[in-house]
Amino acid sequence: MSERRVRVRFAPSPTGALHIGGVRTALYNYLFARQHGGDLIFRIEDTDSGRFVPGAEEYIIESFRWLGIPFDEGVSFGGDHGPYRQSERRDIYKKYVQQLLDAGKAYIAFDTPEELDAKRNEVKNFQYDASTRGSMRNSLSLPEEEVKRLLADGVQYVVRFKIEPDEDVHVDDLIRGDVVIHSSVLDDKVLYKSADELPTYHLANIVDDHLMEVTHVIRGEEWLPSAPLHVLLYRAFGWADTMPRFAHLPLLLKPDGKGKLSKRDGDRLGFPVFPLEWHDPKTGEISSGYRESGYLPEAVLNFLALLGWNPGTDQEIMSLEEMVKLFDITKCSKAGAKFDYVKGTWFNHEYILQKSDEEIARHFDVILKENGFDEPMERVITVVGLMKSRVNFVKELMPLCRFFFEAPTVYDEKTVKKRWKEDSAEQMARLADLLEGLDDFSLEHQETVVTRWIEDNGLHLGNIMNAWRLTLVGEGKGPHMFDISAFLGKDETLRRMRRAIEILK
Ligand code: GLU
Repeated sequence: MSERRVRVRFAPSPTGALHIGGVRTALYNYLFARQHGGDLIFRIEDTDSGRFVPGAEEYIIESFRWLGIPFDEGVSFGGDHGPYRQSERRDIYKKYVQQLLDAGKAYIAFDTPEELDAKRNEVKNFQYDASTRGSMRNSLSLPEEEVKRLLADGVQYVVRFKIEPDEDVHVDDLIRGDVVIHSSVLDDKVLYKSADELPTYHLANIVDDHLMEVTHVIRGEEWLPSAPLHVLLYRAFGWADTMPRFAHLPLLLKPDGKGKLSKRDGDRLGFPVFPLEWHDPKTGEISSGYRESGYLPEAVLNFLALLGWNPGTDQEIMSLEEMVKLFDITKCSKAGAKFDYVKGTWFNHEYILQKSDEEIARHFDVILKENGFDEPMERVITVVGLMKSRVNFVKELMPLCRFFFEAPTVYDEKTVKKRWKEDSAEQMARLADLLEGLDDFSLEHQETVVTRWIEDNGLHLGNIMNAWRLTLVGEGKGPHMFDISAFLGKDETLRRMRRAIEILK
């Protein structure tokens, strides 16, 4: 086979919010496309009209925009293999369904849902296949005349794929190796329904992958059972030579590893399973998203990249470019990956550290404004520089940093009890006088003067600093004292100290 340009696709069905596992699938497709200089296609698989949810498509597009995963072509991105929405490709599918019918690889079946139900009740583990199709109502069992008459009468039908029995079907999977399934366990899958003139997922998926020149199908493990059928479909169409390579990614498991990750796990343990907040248009239910919960998109991608793959070293922090270089689809694990959401918060912390203070300050400024603080940017940047190492999320800066922008109005009782000694008021008054005399209120100068003053007067460094902190912060927390006083400036520092002395003495 000649070298084909690598083309992969992410092909969600717009049935609701995009699950975080779908985000990982898209990410792996992206990494694979980039590292091979190929294309990433965004296709919408909306042939199941009963499950269509308005807004889902827009939601998915917005999710990847936020995450910073660009598609090369597809719905909303353009390209010359469109349309990329399956509901707009009906005529294309009809032609290919006819091709299979003409070749005798598929047949028409008239069994009504009621008849099928009756059969299922009558025969245990009923399967529509080579052993049973003769007793059903289809174009293989009925006289030709009757088939013609039924069609002419406009009776509804489906087209089924004719699976040949007693054959080993091989799925060559980049992660799982040679997966062999015996064709007798497969049923004659419905490929097309006359009722809505739409193909089912299987047919549309194969036809589109072929027409869109997809070279690799990278998708979740839940699609592995469909893969043998897909292999047979490629063959039936005569497309075996250009059949994509498959890679079925490991499942995302519950944090304890027991079973598949579900939205309920997220609700129960308090982490999002969707990239963005999702408002269910039917139920009105609102589900949390990574974006709204304060995750940085880079942290989410890095966290997801390592669920099912690792670079073979203990490197954990990787930019998207590094991931493109290091990613190896063949090194993905077969076993499911535990969704360690606590690790997700660790990644966010690491990315907050890695980002410039300016960038984090821009995020924090939004929260400050929501809380009624309109501060000059350089002051926000300074505070972020002092405090960001203490948080996993930018929003956690607000309670930790409020005192920088607002004088305490109350003094934490416990801290007062412990830190405000008999002589604290008097010492703070002296310290305030000392500071008032300083022309240079820089951090360094204050530190030199105050430490010398403490030494010269035989005072207790800890006691002074603790009491001073209480006057400026209102409690026992915060960064280095001189960082705080230098940030507040002389006037505000003195004002806070004298007010505290007044109240606490
Ligand atoms: N429409 C399927 C989904 O929702 C696509 C499966 C595949 O990638 O083949 O995930």
